[in-house]
Amino acid sequence: MSNIGICEYVIGVIHDKDIWYYVGKSDAHGVTLNPNEQYSSFLVDAKRYDDEDILREELESLPKTLTYKILELQRCPKCKKEFTEHPALSRVDNETEICPECGVREAVRAYINI
Ligand SMILES: [Zn+2]
Repeated sequence: MSNIGICEYVIGVIHDKDIWYYVGKSDAHGVTLNPNEQYSSFLVDAKRYDDEDILREELESLPKTLTYKILELQRCPKCKKEFTEHPALSRVDNETEICPECGVREAVRAYINI
């Protein structure tokens, strides 16, 4: 299988036109974060869920005033970076799913080589 999704999920929050990530009510050391710090613009800060049911449960407990999105984490086989956006198809074999940034890079390279 070419899709190497890592089967982990994060909660995205629509913030203006950006997506922020839900960090959780407390950090790994059990310290309660400031309510304003429950969301981060960095994917690396996002709370990860490997069980979609637990994620949905936690989602239910969050304020309904915000718009949430369940995002699946994937790791790009080219640059090894994690991403949640819709993957691009590699031009190398037309089946490997890579991150959008690598997708653009491959497209630019293909254009230059014409
Ligand atoms: Zn990549």
